[in-house]
Amino acid sequence: MAGEDARRHWAERIRGFGTTIFAEMTELAVAHGAVNLGQGFPNFPCPDFLKEAARKAIYGDQNQYARSAGTPHLVKVLARELSQEFGRDLDPLSEITVTTGATEGLFIAAQAFLEPGDEAVLIEPFYDAYPADSALCGATCVHVPLRPAEDGKWVFDPAEMEQAFSEKTKVVFLNSPQNPTGKVFSRPELEQIAALCIRHDVIVVSDEVYDRMVFDGLEHVRLASLPGMWERTVTLGSAGKTFSVTGWKIGWAVASPTLSEALRKVHQWVPYAVTTPLQEAVACALEEAGPRDYYAQLQEMYQTKRDFLVKALKGSGFQPYVPEGTYFILADCSSWGFENDVELCRYLTVEVGVGAIPPSAFYSDGHKGLASTLVRFCFCKTDEILAQAAEKLEKAYRSRIGR
Ligand code: PMP
Ligand code: GLN
Repeated sequence: MAGEDARRHWAERIRGFGTTIFAEMTELAVAHGAVNLGQGFPNFPCPDFLKEAARKAIYGDQNQYARSAGTPHLVKVLARELSQEFGRDLDPLSEITVTTGATEGLFIAAQAFLEPGDEAVLIEPFYDAYPADSALCGATCVHVPLRPAEDGKWVFDPAEMEQAFSEKTKVVFLNSPQNPTGKVFSRPELEQIAALCIRHDVIVVSDEVYDRMVFDGLEHVRLASLPGMWERTVTLGSAGKTFSVTGWKIGWAVASPTLSEALRKVHQWVPYAVTTPLQEAVACALEEAGPRDYYAQLQEMYQTKRDFLVKALKGSGFQPYVPEGTYFILADCSSWGFENDVELCRYLTVEVGVGAIPPSAFYSDGHKGLASTLVRFCFCKTDEILAQAAEKLEKAYRSRIGR
């Protein structure tokens, strides 16, 4: 029953899935020895205080199943850290659920709140897990595209946003700071979305994994802190981004006791519980981050890397949209003269030696055309790697335009 034949056993709901663009482009980058500015993961080590805390937890024999919703230490530290930002006293035991990365948070939220035939509203470009998680529930997606305004900021049309909501809408996936645009949604924008969610009685999955990467003194507004939103918002966070440990897969979901109860009904059957010693290490790291001024240093480091890559891209024929947050940059690549973004990214990876992600992966079929002249680079890389990438891009661009 090998090969093609065995495919008849595949469930209908998985048949449409290919391989994620991140796996595909990383494989291509590795195969061609390219400098990888594609998949977003730091290529530098995580802080020593995190490694030390993990070592202590493992040698301290914290190696058995954790409490299903998260170790008491980690949920307590998260509640303490986030209460002020959420404008309420978060209850560690009933309002915080530790997940296997934000990826699990997205999956269990979709499973907990979407029924077949329901609609989910997605803002395009979207993180590619949102449509997949919706499809696994039998829900359909309605898309609201962001478009670049004259000042280079990505904005949605309020009328289009309003039209996306119907009596079928059950969930909105929101991502701020947003991958891949780097957009940080402003308070008035979030208020508009919140008003629609309240009017249509919709749950919001607010993916805030890049909450510690906000630049130029901008404010990261917690959607759940807006009036009327706490009862209908699931906020997702991830230690992978904040502490440069994407391989640890420690995330969390913050939500009211009733919404958390729904998430936990699914979570208990997916991983049951999350890696004990790494939860302990993240708890210790969160405690140490403040006194060490870690967040300010992280923000400063990424802002410097952003500025370097923006300048380098401008010097290589790209027109970057300067990101307000995250560690990604979207750039217009029209002057490189390619048919579409996938072709350009293959060329950059294979011929130029710089891996990148084609942003059409973050658009629905009907809107992929909006991405045809865009490319996504990440700047969570060492200065040496960024400099190597800049040099390769500049050289390749010069030879393309014959200078
Ligand atoms: N949401 C967004 C917007 C992301 O970019 C990522 C990156 N992987 C995730 C969720 C998943 O986070 P994690 O690695 O914690 O599963
Ligand atoms: N979030 C990462 C990115 O956007 C990739 C995560 C993954 O590979 N699934 O690059």
